[in-house]
Amino acid sequence: MQEVGIDEDTAAEEFNYNGVTKDLDRMDILAIESRRRNWLRSQGLEVSDEAFQETLEATREEIIRTCPVRPKKHQVCVFCKNNKEREEVYTSHMLKDSLDRVICPILSKYTCPVCYATGANAHTKKYCPKYDGISTVNLLLQTPRNCSGKYRK
Ligand SMILES: [Zn+2]
Ligand SMILES: [Zn+2]
Repeated sequence: MQEVGIDEDTAAEEFNYNGVTKDLDRMDILAIESRRRNWLRSQGLEVSDEAFQETLEATREEIIRTCPVRPKKHQVCVFCKNNKEREEVYTSHMLKDSLDRVICPILSKYTCPVCYATGANAHTKKYCPKYDGISTVNLLLQTPRNCSGKYRK
């Protein structure tokens, strides 16, 4: 038992050295928990999600509320707005600061699946500078006719 305690302390110290804030660590912990739950489900186990979803929601809202950069009047986070977050969420911060660094607490936690950019450089796959736009779905959608033989509008 004692050894486990020591390991946790070391891990926490590493987080501190990396300059990751406490709030983001909590989100990381939730992400790990979410993965674990998915794994349990894939093993055919029943996992109740209610309490977990509540924690997730509460943590997310707290991170957004405590986001240090306040938007100027009428400015909103377009990323959160497009994600259909609630108004008090997307009006509470901006997507980027004046130096074009991502400050949205949600997007900055996202890791691009193409180039693995995250944090201040975070973006979704669609906006990835290394993504050429070719995916199976895109190729299928680029054909002039849909599956029933009609031309797309
Ligand atoms: Zn945002
Ligand atoms: Zn990318």
